[in-house]
Amino acid sequence: MLNQKLFKIEKEDSYNKHSRLIKEYKEAHPLAKIISLGIGDVSFPVPVPIAEAMKKACGDLTSMDTFRGYGAYFGIESLRKTIARKDYEGLGIGPEEIYVGDGTKTDCTAILELFDEKVKVLVGNPTYPVYRNGAYAMGREVCECSCDEECKMTVPGERYDIIYICSPCNPVGNAYTKEELSRWVEYARDNGSYIVYDNVYKDFAESPGLPKSIYEKEGSKSCCIEMHSFSKNASLSGTRCSYFVLPKEFGDEMISLWRERTINRFNGASYVAQKGAEASYLPEAQEIIKKNIKVYKENGKLLRKTLLEAGFFVTGGIDAPYLWVQTPRKDECWEAFRIFLEKMNIVVVPGSIFGSRGRHHIRISALGSREDCIEACERIRDHYEKSC
Ligand code: PLP
Repeated sequence: MLNQKLFKIEKEDSYNKHSRLIKEYKEAHPLAKIISLGIGDVSFPVPVPIAEAMKKACGDLTSMDTFRGYGAYFGIESLRKTIARKDYEGLGIGPEEIYVGDGTKTDCTAILELFDEKVKVLVGNPTYPVYRNGAYAMGREVCECSCDEECKMTVPGERYDIIYICSPCNPVGNAYTKEELSRWVEYARDNGSYIVYDNVYKDFAESPGLPKSIYEKEGSKSCCIEMHSFSKNASLSGTRCSYFVLPKEFGDEMISLWRERTINRFNGASYVAQKGAEASYLPEAQEIIKKNIKVYKENGKLLRKTLLEAGFFVTGGIDAPYLWVQTPRKDECWEAFRIFLEKMNIVVVPGSIFGSRGRHHIRISALGSREDCIEACERIRDHYEKSC
């Protein structure tokens, strides 16, 4: 009776085990001042102009004239228009091509319902585990892509139907250049494949040659679904709001299938969250968002410098708020996690949660507070100076 595919979801290398070990350690050491550089939640609160817009939206719900209930299956019009105008200026994406959701975590798995059950899904190794585990939960076949020395997925010789690309990338912290993405778009076009392009960290990209959208590449609108979230920039990780683009170039049949599916499977994202997301584009909100992202990015650079000086091999920390780190002695990742927790009281994430090729890595998040980041760097320096 049970969905057997759910048994494929990894339990040993999982966030569940990670949380359990941290909880056990905290219970045994109640006085330890633990710093979390682990799970990728943001530490800055919701910017006030966004919270004010959500308060006003709550007010709308109390009046006969402005009450909003069912009906906005694909998102409220004002938000879809704002996204099209602000995020896709000059790229020719209209509001009707934008679908608002309640988080990219949900969206990136839900989109598989558009495609046949027999599709072959390609993910990185390492990868954001939701692509793999979500596809398992939906009973799809999942294959792993090989990666180059910079941990970027290499275009395969064989054909796959759906390819998940995350850029800027969780967990490895780098980003694909326009040229690298172009190769993937050409692969998708040549093979009749589709790319699910997750750019929830696009606001962190700063190196030259990095695109803000996959639609900057000509020809991508017929084969790429771009996903974005308001969790990381607007701190709506607990409020839940996201969007993705299904361009009209996918064709009338596919678009109407998706719309039918959505009307039958989803009653739309929260009105209050959507009004918050819309307010995130206001200049006064943008000012705060940019300031917050600057702090996370400085954290990334500080952590990167500290880890490199301590002899670690580090990828990322510049164009994404994550560092993908190999310990100097190539420790097994759960052992490295234990050393960080017990010797430095720092929480990191074992790399194997993201795939078997993360066995000798840990992932460190730069989304913590500035104070915690400085303190963590001191602890790392102290520990590795002593142990050398
Ligand atoms: N995509 C990636 C690559 C992520 O790292 C995360 C969260 O950490 C998400 C999606 C989830 O986004 P949301 O909060 O919108 O579900």
